[in-house]
Amino acid sequence: MVKNTTSLTFYGGVNEIGGNKILLQDGDTKVFFDFGMSFAMKKQFYSPPFLSPKNAKSLQELGILPQIAGVYKFEPNPPEVDAIFLSHGHLDHSAYLSFIKREIPVYCGETTQIILQALSEIRRADLEFSVADIDFRSFRTGKKIKVDSLEIEPLHVDHSVPGAYGFVIHTSNGAVVYTGDFRDHGAKPEMTRDFIEKAKAAQPVAIVTEATNMTGATVSSEAEVEGKLDHIVTRTDGIVLAGFANSDVDRLNSFYHIAKKNHRCLAVSLKQAYLLDALHKDKGLKLPDLDDETMLIFRKSKKRFDKWESQLIERYENQNKIFDVFDVSKQQCNVILAMSFYDFEELVSLQPTAGSCYVLSSSEPFNEEMEIDYERLTNWLKHYGLPQYQVHVSGHMMPLQLKAALKEINAERAFPIHTEHADLFARFMRDLKSQVTLVEKCREYTL
Ligand SMILES: [Zn+2]
Ligand SMILES: [Zn+2]
Repeated sequence: MVKNTTSLTFYGGVNEIGGNKILLQDGDTKVFFDFGMSFAMKKQFYSPPFLSPKNAKSLQELGILPQIAGVYKFEPNPPEVDAIFLSHGHLDHSAYLSFIKREIPVYCGETTQIILQALSEIRRADLEFSVADIDFRSFRTGKKIKVDSLEIEPLHVDHSVPGAYGFVIHTSNGAVVYTGDFRDHGAKPEMTRDFIEKAKAAQPVAIVTEATNMTGATVSSEAEVEGKLDHIVTRTDGIVLAGFANSDVDRLNSFYHIAKKNHRCLAVSLKQAYLLDALHKDKGLKLPDLDDETMLIFRKSKKRFDKWESQLIERYENQNKIFDVFDVSKQQCNVILAMSFYDFEELVSLQPTAGSCYVLSSSEPFNEEMEIDYERLTNWLKHYGLPQYQVHVSGHMMPLQLKAALKEINAERAFPIHTEHADLFARFMRDLKSQVTLVEKCREYTL
């Protein structure tokens, strides 16, 4: 019998942070790992909302959506891919599910499915992010999934969104490991430890690893972030405004603990409240309850609300949970208000009192949910006399820990992705036994 050939082709995540789309072929079996949106490529051509892609053809024309046969629902040919596996729910790994043929099953963690469905419900109909009619098949750690000649083992890792996984993929030519996005300084480092140990035990022939933080690395932890938030909130006389990613549950927990400790309420947006409510379905997650006395829901000033917003408001209104900007304005010293930059128009009615401040708690080298417009952000803060604190810890592994992890896993080959500094990675890792390959986009690498 002829032995299957195993190969990897990278259609995204090459020389950029995010946009991961990794095709693993084993004989006739074809599986994608992640199918994300490339923020970097999109930015080269588009400037939403006034210049946005009209349809998938435009995205293909510009190379933002790569040419891959038998994958897209707008092409008539039959599916040529057996499955898609998602590492986690960040849009740079998942959004372009929008375009895939609905016959292709999509495997992801239970939490990821909850997040993607909730995000899909709270965003208006969007060309680039819709999971309507996707054939989701959810898994948890410990499950092994057979796809023809492959056996895929999802393993939990710690990341800045709950329900993140790495994978050990058993192929005809040995095990291939994919880290997804991971870190070991978050709220659950033990999950990443489990992953590293299982990856090592598989004696992999190759590892596909994220290498986001090759520059601008720091030494910190989620626990340290909580301490720093306490330092700020304790000393603030007025309102504390806080910007953090909706899906960063660890950060939400940190703000919640500090609000409680300082006898303040934490007011979250309708979007955050909706997501929080949805995530309560996942009993494995530790989350603040919207019924908790510390939690409030902030209703932005606008004339019309979407259906999901009206339903949420109706549900919590008689519990006195819904606060508008005028309610918050009257008791600024009692509130931490979660507020994205896109909510800043509310500041006009809020009129932050002297001694208020703004805590930016989301900036990655690039944020996985949106990009931060620093110049305009600073102009608003200047206008209202709000100093800006930056308190954050990355969702990604730091270089020294990454090196230690790769050394321990000891794969024969390493493919760095999800980075703008693969060459730096290669030099930094040159004394490892793993042979580092600098990946070229769309090129097939036989293992
Ligand atoms: Zn990512
Ligand atoms: Zn991520």
